[in-house]
Amino acid sequence: MASKTLSLSEEVKRRRTFAIISHPDAGKTTLTEKLLLYGGAIHSAGSVKSRRAEKYAVSDWMEIERQRGISVTSSVLQFNYGGYCVNILDTPGHQDFSEDTYRTLMAADCAVMVVDCAKGVEAQTKKLFKVCKMRGIPIFTFVNKLDRQGKDPFELLEDIEQVLGIDSFPMNWPIGSGKDFTGVYDRQKSRIELFDGGSHGQSKANVLEGDLEDAAIKERLGGLQHQQLADELELLDHAGNAYDLEEILNGNLTPVFFGSALTNFGVQPFLESFLELTPPPAPRPSNLGPIAPESENFSGFIFKIQANMNPTHRDRIAFLRICSGKFTKGMSVHHVQENRKITLAQPQQFLAQDRMIVETAYPGDIIGLHDPGIFRIGDTLCEDKSSLAYEGIPVFAPEHFAKIYTPNALKRKQFLKGITQLAQEGSIQVFKRPDIGVEELIVGVVGILQFEVLSYRLKHEYGVDVNQQLLPHRYIRWIKQEDFDKKKFSTTMDSMIAVDSLEHPVVLYQHEWSINQLKDRNKDAVLAEISLRN
Ligand code: GDP
Repeated sequence: MASKTLSLSEEVKRRRTFAIISHPDAGKTTLTEKLLLYGGAIHSAGSVKSRRAEKYAVSDWMEIERQRGISVTSSVLQFNYGGYCVNILDTPGHQDFSEDTYRTLMAADCAVMVVDCAKGVEAQTKKLFKVCKMRGIPIFTFVNKLDRQGKDPFELLEDIEQVLGIDSFPMNWPIGSGKDFTGVYDRQKSRIELFDGGSHGQSKANVLEGDLEDAAIKERLGGLQHQQLADELELLDHAGNAYDLEEILNGNLTPVFFGSALTNFGVQPFLESFLELTPPPAPRPSNLGPIAPESENFSGFIFKIQANMNPTHRDRIAFLRICSGKFTKGMSVHHVQENRKITLAQPQQFLAQDRMIVETAYPGDIIGLHDPGIFRIGDTLCEDKSSLAYEGIPVFAPEHFAKIYTPNALKRKQFLKGITQLAQEGSIQVFKRPDIGVEELIVGVVGILQFEVLSYRLKHEYGVDVNQQLLPHRYIRWIKQEDFDKKKFSTTMDSMIAVDSLEHPVVLYQHEWSINQLKDRNKDAVLAEISLRN
């Protein structure tokens, strides 16, 4: 394989690591599948069926859990395309598991945002976008389902700019819409890609080269459509944003591609342009300053822990994003937070549907490590014994809270063990009321479905029945204040104080508007929406 002869910096340069975000049903699964198809990682559309399974009803969760092996193999997808080595970090389809997506975005170098052309920017996209924005990573937009009647493309751009607060630059422009949809005009290459009616097939779309004035193009479009396209392109050139690669790379300008994942239309030009414009892994911030990926010392951080690959062994896989150096199977590394040496004996890598033992891997790649319970989200591993620690993975604000306890006093130990382990995986957050302690814990989750999953897993994996009582609180802020004193902190009618698992104080409250009151009454405190894990 060519990779054997490449140097570390060449391997870094050809890596592209990204996540795809969208509101459910916008077409993330379909686009992922088509990218894999073009990358040769799968051979027919429909192979990524397991992802469909994630669109389950609440009651189907347990069945899915039984098939967890499948969904995990599709957690990271790697393929080679045109000399690039592409890592797609897949994210759960169900929005109740979006905290998982937030963490995955911490490991991605850029993001693709899929928008349904009939719906525009939807709620879940908005939430996930916020996390991308926080990281300042480049965001590419794929406006999908162009084979169907959708909103006016100008309206869609305005939607993206207004709702998300990011400038947009259409890389191509749709010609006609719905029944009259003809194709797209590539603004960089001045050529038209013709839509062939949606073969659903594997075939590439036909292309008609040439600028607007070419006779063949005029003839193909007909007078009316040609005139409309010419007017629209002129408007874009004059009134639209200018193309600015630096702004794209800073995450301030999103290149927009119009296409249709289902019919393959516009997927390949999107992939090629995306790979060309997106950056390879960059130096990563740490407590020792930015660490260059080309640094000879191997290092990386854990961004996700997934349990129950095999329920009878209760094993866990920790996902490590490699940030620098070369990984080789069997190497010994230093686990910074635990201050101990560990051997990475059987790391796994994921190639489309297959899990396989990985021999070597490079910055930008993700490897799955067997976790006998030693890893926490945000942990750093590095080759030499240093104190290097990558910036922590944030803890995002849960949106639902419940009191939880076990009615069986004899099971308390198991209960606490289960809760602690599930919190380590990051699917729940645990809080205590300072005056009540562990007798009654408060669990916070991003999606309400996670409460059901929690009860199920505690019962089936730890043999503990629990009672849960939903709380009316919907918001949380971490209280950052020197010499915090609960007695001096002034709460509102709808709020209460608790502490998180690191004993950091938090305030939970019910109504959005209370935040202003809380800030007013506690001017010395910073009330943060996101907290760091370590
Ligand atoms: P996800 O929830 O974002 O992963 O969405 P899916 O990829 O599962 O797509 C949701 C639905 O939209 C499915 O029925 C797809 O077949 C359909 N779909 C996806 N892309 C397109 C497209 O380009 N055109 C049309 N007409 N339908 C699409």
